[in-house]
Amino acid sequence: MRALTVISPGTWELQDREDREPSPQSLRIAPRVVGICGTDLDIIDGTIDPAFVRYPIVIGHEWAGTVVVGNAEIPSGSRVVVEGIIACGICAECLTGDTNRCVLYDEYGFTRDGAAADYVDATADLVHVLADHVSWDSAVLTEPAAVVLRALQRAAPASGGEALVIGDGTVALLAAVLLRQWSPSRVVMLGARDDQRALALKAGVDVFTTDPDSVGNNFSIVVEAAGAIAATATAFAACARGGRIVLIGYPGHGKTFPLPVDDVINNDLNILGSFSYTRSAWADVVALLNSGAADFSFLVTHHYPLADCEQALGTLRNPSGARGKVVLEMTS
Ligand SMILES: [Zn+2]
Ligand SMILES: [Zn+2]
Repeated sequence: MRALTVISPGTWELQDREDREPSPQSLRIAPRVVGICGTDLDIIDGTIDPAFVRYPIVIGHEWAGTVVVGNAEIPSGSRVVVEGIIACGICAECLTGDTNRCVLYDEYGFTRDGAAADYVDATADLVHVLADHVSWDSAVLTEPAAVVLRALQRAAPASGGEALVIGDGTVALLAAVLLRQWSPSRVVMLGARDDQRALALKAGVDVFTTDPDSVGNNFSIVVEAAGAIAATATAFAACARGGRIVLIGYPGHGKTFPLPVDDVINNDLNILGSFSYTRSAWADVVALLNSGAADFSFLVTHHYPLADCEQALGTLRNPSGARGKVVLEMTS
């Protein structure tokens, strides 16, 4: 089988591997679409926190595919998405539903081989069947949508407040879409590239700007999804008293920001990090897709066959024009 493998930081190749038999406990799924993101670049470059990756690793943690070896409940031919985090289910974190913090961290595309390959094996409890109407391009956003939804569920913004999303990449755009569940009075996006304006408007953003000085400072929720220290500073400056700052953009392992402690105290701020997604957030995203309440397909702007993965990674590193999710097509 083909497998896009990062052998060690800085070294990757599209390998041709021996096929293995699936274990009797697993379903086998053929990935159809695999999204790539900045975290994949961090894995390739070795800039990810080393506690969350092992090498060599097949990348691919955003994906959807078709079951090729199924069971009675999920037969062959089912179109599915698969939870990437394999939570143990019995540690103290799992027992309280905080499966993103499972003490036995294990995740496809990070600590076990991911979906940029011809096959992935997974136990049935991780596999979620898609309704027929859910497009591949919508389904491929399930993982980043679950990351965003869990962060917003944790922040639980009050309805009617103003929301600021910093960033204009896929995570930021998903945040703009999913914030609507909390009925903000308006959603402002502070982007970096004016080329993203049309995508932002499709995501339901009321105001799109690239000027940090124009956004104001009265947001009851600020979602930092740009992953840059300057953006973190903007998030603190823009948050209203009593507001919530949600950090989900990675600025790079080890990067630091001088915390304005007086402002945090005097402004009664809530600062929230959010790691990955819980099992319940994943199920919530699948329910949104299957009910027709959400369709993320507009976010996919680039498709490449797996063989052209180098160009796909280049598009991710050096965006020009409108760029949403970059997807590898696994069929060709
Ligand atoms: Zn990702
Ligand atoms: Zn656990």
